[in-house]
Amino acid sequence: MESDMITEADLQSLISTLVIHGGTEGDERTGAVSVPIYQTSTYKQQELGVNSGYEYSRTGNPTREALEILIKELEAGATGLAFASGMAAITAVLMLLKSGDSVIIPSNIYGGTFRILDKIFKNFNIDYEIVDTSDLEEVEKRINPKVKAILIESPANPLLTITDIRGISEIAHRHGALVIVDNTFMTPYLQRPLNLGADIVLHSATKYLGGHSDVIAGLVVAKGNNIGERLKFIQNATGGVLSPFDSWLLVRGIKTLTVRMDRHVENAEYLVEYLKNHAGVTKIYYPGLPENEGYSVHKQQAYGPGAMISFVLSEDYDIKEFFRNIKVITLGESLGGVESLVSHPASMTHASIPYEVRQKVGIVDNLIRLSVGIEDSGTLINDLENAFKKAGK
Ligand SMILES: *Cc1c(COP(=O)(O)O)cnc(C)c1O
Repeated sequence: MESDMITEADLQSLISTLVIHGGTEGDERTGAVSVPIYQTSTYKQQELGVNSGYEYSRTGNPTREALEILIKELEAGATGLAFASGMAAITAVLMLLKSGDSVIIPSNIYGGTFRILDKIFKNFNIDYEIVDTSDLEEVEKRINPKVKAILIESPANPLLTITDIRGISEIAHRHGALVIVDNTFMTPYLQRPLNLGADIVLHSATKYLGGHSDVIAGLVVAKGNNIGERLKFIQNATGGVLSPFDSWLLVRGIKTLTVRMDRHVENAEYLVEYLKNHAGVTKIYYPGLPENEGYSVHKQQAYGPGAMISFVLSEDYDIKEFFRNIKVITLGESLGGVESLVSHPASMTHASIPYEVRQKVGIVDNLIRLSVGIEDSGTLINDLENAFKKAGK
């Protein structure tokens, strides 16, 4: 399908079809409806200087290309690229920067993104500045000529903080900086940052896009051809490409993205209703709650609240007992799979942040994060209710 011709409103109504029929469909030679897995490193060349369009699979592979075209169409961009992990995708994007450049990030950026800037890119004289990107005035105050990119997530982990993507893009572009959005929590079904003004959108496809907790992958889409070509060069030069089989798993996973997301969100909204009124919960973070900061901004830029919920367990409950007694919901890192997962940010995903900083930004020791799966919602509530009962002091 020709994504250039599709308006934002049309895309939202088309996207359930596009996830299935977008990109490269099936196999022309045999009529197979599933795109073949081209498990090959190289390709026979017809004669010197004449080839089929493929030379070597780091540079190009038809199965990976099927995925790359598909994600490009879903995010309404010019170029799509598939990487061996979300971190490989983020690394490739940061390689657009040069020594002396700086990137603005919020404090609640994904831990791995912070680590790679703090421990690796810093060695190459590429700096970062931590700014509360949910506050546009603060961003305006802190942006300076060194800043060549602003990298954000909205909603961000684990307090589901919302950043105004249109507002950030307006400020960044006035100062000649790129806007990079990690869209992992939303997926292109619920939010399309390129249509909101961002230059690059990326995903840990390990999460909702794959959707089944069985593949590690990253995807990048560039809005413009120029940045797209530069990223394609970086992808081939540095080589962190996704394998043909994992590319196929993602094409397969994405086919059910919209039905999965509808169910994820339905379950999450149901769980939020239950948690909101529970004596064991003192605070709840969810972009779909009108009392949440950022609610109206999120509503203007996204098509739904998503299925990540964080809440603070009351001091009257024992948190270890709570985790011990959750049976259906699995204790584990990651998110976005069909199975519900629960995690403890203070000791798991955000343990590397010093205690005082965690307290200051709201990642308290009693904070619990839920990635709501697509199981029966009644079963999930019974599971939580049982854990609350056992954990009551
Ligand atoms: C998981 C995650 C990443 C890293 O992706 P990997 O596939 O684990 O390398 C980046 N950003 C966000 C928001 C994530 O949740």
